[in-house]
Amino acid sequence: MFKSKSSDPSIEWLARSWIGSTYTLLDRRDLLPAIRRQITEYLEQKLVLYHSDKPPFYPENLFKDRKIIKKIEDNLSSSHSGLLIPVRGGFLIKIRSDEPNTRKRFSIAHEIGHTFFFDLNPEIPTRIFNRTRYWVEEDFANFIAGVILLPESSLRKTLLKEEFSPSLESLAQLAQLYTVSQDVLCRRLVKQLHLWDCLLFKSVIESDGTIKTDSSSVSKGTSYESWTIPKLLVNKNQKAPSSSLPFGKNRINPIQSFLVSAITKATSNSRDEKKKDCSEFHYGGNTYSIQSRIAMKRKLSSCISLIRRKLPSS
Ligand SMILES: [Zn+2]
Repeated sequence: MFKSKSSDPSIEWLARSWIGSTYTLLDRRDLLPAIRRQITEYLEQKLVLYHSDKPPFYPENLFKDRKIIKKIEDNLSSSHSGLLIPVRGGFLIKIRSDEPNTRKRFSIAHEIGHTFFFDLNPEIPTRIFNRTRYWVEEDFANFIAGVILLPESSLRKTLLKEEFSPSLESLAQLAQLYTVSQDVLCRRLVKQLHLWDCLLFKSVIESDGTIKTDSSSVSKGTSYESWTIPKLLVNKNQKAPSSSLPFGKNRINPIQSFLVSAITKATSNSRDEKKKDCSEFHYGGNTYSIQSRIAMKRKLSSCISLIRRKLPSS
């Protein structure tokens, strides 16, 4: 039997509920995308109904449709940002009270994502499949959270109307407009909807000068699928940026020195907002711009970088 993510019993159950009995005609690999499309359509309709398409979108507006009785802010353990608790008549959502507003909003939308794994008809919502792989459900709930907070139709309209082209300024403005974190926005704009063709990633600059890429933060647009951002940009033992660290398998990374110098520049310019945070480099016959900015995070410095191809006219 073909083994894929979509052979998970929870996905089979979702397919029966949202596609109907004809789901068995679909290739198993197409199952998850088909379910996502159906539920996205359902959520977009509801959101437009409640919001008239204007950000920010409030996940609370979906409570009635998803049988959520109440949201409670509580002191949850550090391993939990939110919890979905089935009770008589629906669900309770608990979220951590000590988190920032954007994180709380994401947690609520994420817990709404979990409600899709329950049959809402019984008095107490019930799961009717036997087992599920943890990450199948978590990935799905994260995806649903993105759909709720950043609906595609609204994002497309906003990008068109306001001419938000890929830049760190646009990213910050959009994150504020939709009241989401920049991480959630990057995933949705670049990875899922391909609305921005650019490459975004975060780096951590340690106190000894080592610069490491946070691999979970890399969002690659369509033209950047083959690009590899090295895990280690600068080793503490290397004084000057090196272009000789391995890139992919036994290859040299030709853009590493540009990345390192942009991030180094961003570090030194971080205290002076007037200084330019953008530089250019040539690669494969094209000119690219790279923009890096520092965001202080506890003891480590976190830096976000955006790479995009410069069009001949710009
Ligand atoms: Zn979860």
